[in-house]
Amino acid sequence: MNTIAWIILSALILNYLLNLAADILNLRELRTRPPDEFKPYYDAERYRQSQAYLRDNTRFGWVSASFNLFVMLAFWFGGGFPWLDTVVRQLGWGSVPSGVLYIGVLLALQGLLSLPFQFYGTFVIEARYGFNRTTLATFVLDRLKGLILAIALGGPLLAGIIHLFETGGGNAWWYSWLVVVVFMLVMQYVAPTWIMPLFNRFEPLRDESLKNAILEYAASIQFPLQNVFIMDGSKRSAKSNAFFTGFGRSKRIVLFDTLVNAHSTAELVAVLGHEMGHCKLRHILVGMFINIFQAGLMFFLLSLCVSIPQLFEAFDMPHPSVYAGIVFFGLLYAPVDFFSGLLGMMVSRRNEFSADRFAVRTTGNAAALIKALKTLSVNHLSNLTPHPFYVYLNYSHPPILARIRAIRAVDASGG
Ligand SMILES: [Zn+2]
Repeated sequence: MNTIAWIILSALILNYLLNLAADILNLRELRTRPPDEFKPYYDAERYRQSQAYLRDNTRFGWVSASFNLFVMLAFWFGGGFPWLDTVVRQLGWGSVPSGVLYIGVLLALQGLLSLPFQFYGTFVIEARYGFNRTTLATFVLDRLKGLILAIALGGPLLAGIIHLFETGGGNAWWYSWLVVVVFMLVMQYVAPTWIMPLFNRFEPLRDESLKNAILEYAASIQFPLQNVFIMDGSKRSAKSNAFFTGFGRSKRIVLFDTLVNAHSTAELVAVLGHEMGHCKLRHILVGMFINIFQAGLMFFLLSLCVSIPQLFEAFDMPHPSVYAGIVFFGLLYAPVDFFSGLLGMMVSRRNEFSADRFAVRTTGNAAALIKALKTLSVNHLSNLTPHPFYVYLNYSHPPILARIRAIRAVDASGG
């Protein structure tokens, strides 16, 4: 074991233990009675259910994380990486196709091993709490479509990056960066128009009074909203959501059918006020620049690491290659990814407070936003009392009670 192997191994184990500790703290915060704020929303049985849901998901997470760690270590120390390389090299395909195959097989194995867990999560846990609406046919079709998209979009992108790193010399990292940035920007357009309709049906909102209320609000904050769509989220889950697609002058709002059914018009406008707030306050734009910057940093570090002999020694690979270097770098990069993830979630939680503030000030209806957030957490059996350390590691949104408190404070200060 060389230094790089030790770094990767300790990062894997530390990450596992850290999450385990956060889970244990989180479960200890469970109380038998809901916080006062939520007393009118829960009977004893419903609250007990929300706690059981958290416990089930936490235990399931332990099984899946332990299994993944075990498989990773067994594959690594059982010589899986050089073995697969030998098999791929015997085909004599040339370095770019071999690289795509090598990484493709690793990803396919990972996907295959995660399938039983996805199945159990959907058809056992989500079903047990009445959330699941996914049929077996939808489940299978989703995976097939995902696989075809991964091959059609990811394959050429990966081939391009391997080629650039083999031929681009010192320029490879920023050539690859440029390619990925163009790909990200094109996807901004392609995803809502071509890809998302493969998975869901999008229909223009027909409820005229709701549509007018939303368009009127959008006009009041000079928001260039073109259209409001309803998505059949109920095809997969009883849980609800809303999001934005498109950019520039052609922004679209998508509401899950499950969201529209569970909320009043005022609540929906408040929720959309929050979403439009993210746009108006440039959270989405800044987020995209941060992603672009991170991609650049990653390619730069990749270019520094991809040909270090110790990286290949750590995995007992006799023949160094760009494609294997990409895989091993991915493992070495995990700690950087972990810390940038923590930072990203910290920024995201702050942005959620700002978007709430924006919604309260522009709709003037703090009560509707609070009601919407409460109904959402009750309907989703959300954990009302997460442990701060768990929040720090996992939450992109602040805990619900913190949001409600902040919304009340904005409202009391007169906006
Ligand atoms: Zn938000």
